[in-house]
Amino acid sequence: DDKKEVIVDDELVQKTYTEVTHHIVFVTSEASPYSKTGGLGDVCGSLPIALAARGHRVMVVTPRYLCGGPSDRKFDSAVDLDCRIKVSCSGGVQEVVFFHEYKAGVDWVFVDHPSFHRPGNPYGDAYGAFGDNQFRFTLLCHAACEAPLVLPLGGHMYGEKCLFLANDWHAGLVPVLLAAKYRPYGVYKDARSIVVIHNLAHQGVEPASTYSNFGLPPEWYGTLGWVFPTWARTHALDTGEAVNILKGAIVTADRILTVSQGYSWEITTPEGGNGLDELLSSRKTVVNGITNGIDVTEWNPSVDEHIPSHYSLDDLSGKTECKIALQRELGLPIRPDCPLIGFIGRLDYQKGIDIILSGTPDLLQDDVQFIMLGSGEKQYEDWMRATEATFKDKFRGWVGFNVPISHRITAGCDILLMPSRFEPCGLNQLYAMRYGTVPVVHATGGLGDTVKTFNPFADEGKGEGTGWAFKPLTRESMLDALWVAIETYRNHKTSWGGLMKRGMERDYSWDNAAVQYEQVFKWAFIDPP
Ligand code: ADP
Repeated sequence: DDKKEVIVDDELVQKTYTEVTHHIVFVTSEASPYSKTGGLGDVCGSLPIALAARGHRVMVVTPRYLCGGPSDRKFDSAVDLDCRIKVSCSGGVQEVVFFHEYKAGVDWVFVDHPSFHRPGNPYGDAYGAFGDNQFRFTLLCHAACEAPLVLPLGGHMYGEKCLFLANDWHAGLVPVLLAAKYRPYGVYKDARSIVVIHNLAHQGVEPASTYSNFGLPPEWYGTLGWVFPTWARTHALDTGEAVNILKGAIVTADRILTVSQGYSWEITTPEGGNGLDELLSSRKTVVNGITNGIDVTEWNPSVDEHIPSHYSLDDLSGKTECKIALQRELGLPIRPDCPLIGFIGRLDYQKGIDIILSGTPDLLQDDVQFIMLGSGEKQYEDWMRATEATFKDKFRGWVGFNVPISHRITAGCDILLMPSRFEPCGLNQLYAMRYGTVPVVHATGGLGDTVKTFNPFADEGKGEGTGWAFKPLTRESMLDALWVAIETYRNHKTSWGGLMKRGMERDYSWDNAAVQYEQVFKWAFIDPP
């Protein structure tokens, strides 16, 4: 197979990276702490900082969301650059404004437009997804392509020889615009683009008639044009014709990256490709996977501001205190020896909530406690509330999005459950291992890559492994894995200690991933496809 593997060059890791520095432009719909609904926000909040620390000049272009609530204050320190540009799209001319904050070595650039000012999260509100998301993210992409040419950040433009990292479909028009709007006029000839796929489930698909909204020349229709498979059409007259932004990005980007090696393979298969597998296979020589790092300062049990007691490998007593405090906070019986299982994540089919739902009554026959934090589909939120009423002493379901609670669950639990149907990378299992909480996951995508199954019966319980990765994804195999985990927790304390230790000792920092990104940048410039 001619796919290149990303191999970490030890010499590069050792020395400060000064020989080849790039001007890098991240384009993203989320960047923590300014905005976050999931892993995309985490990655785009921390990878830019890691790359800047290695000597690159890094800008992140993202919307200036104002929702009329306290989270608007996060944008307070960004100043108006007094730079306005006009974008032609959706049959009119829109004016967008740039705000800027230089922090942690990174230029954070916020695109301001009235369509980013409304209650809700970046994509929708209580009534569902916003109807004009295609328009909003088209604006973001046009603005991001102009930013290196017009913004004198720190006194100097980034200029044309830059590297765009377009994250997910919201930024997917960037490589298309470079190819269709700029390069034919000699602009950005030496720029490169990489599309980073964090989740292939969302592709930015809209009716074909919306093509004219993109502000692209008509002859580029084929790049975005897409046909729904017959089974996905709504009625007999539906021809299935659509535009698909992520498809356009995959066709035009110089390189394609996903957030784990496992997922980079899965998306080239019919089961994991979500309709784009053949296209991705045809470009597989430029597809690679790099496992996400985590923000090791935000997620550090020895200094975490959200948890009641700090701890480290040398002294784990604080973890027991976190467990007791969590049981108290959520009104569960305070029992430090009772296995405490946690789940954190979006309540959606992707996360395997249906499997949790079918396994929970059996799981709760045992002497365990189970805490879930999440928001999403109403049927699952209702189920969490009902299960809490039935199993008062054993189950808590916290409906909502709450970062401090997510830290306290990560620290206070013994086991973290992640039966995701598919998982491009997954961050919670990484946070869990860093906090000495043992993950039980479905062996898919990044979960399979990062959690190595422990066998308590081999090597006198002293073997390798940091948790359990089960398959197939069924209620039975999830319960089997949980029971082995619970049994090990109860009766094999030394083995459990080893599991916690191996997880806590791992290197989760972005440094290693940043070096692998640099390798892909190098290929993009030296060895364009
Ligand atoms: P995804 O991006 O598919 O949602 P990831 O595991 O990559 O999944 O990242 C999810 C991120 O969102 C993690 O930082 C996780 O802690 C956070 N998160 C998810 N749901 C919640 C919630 N209800 N409250 C707080 N944080 C949450």
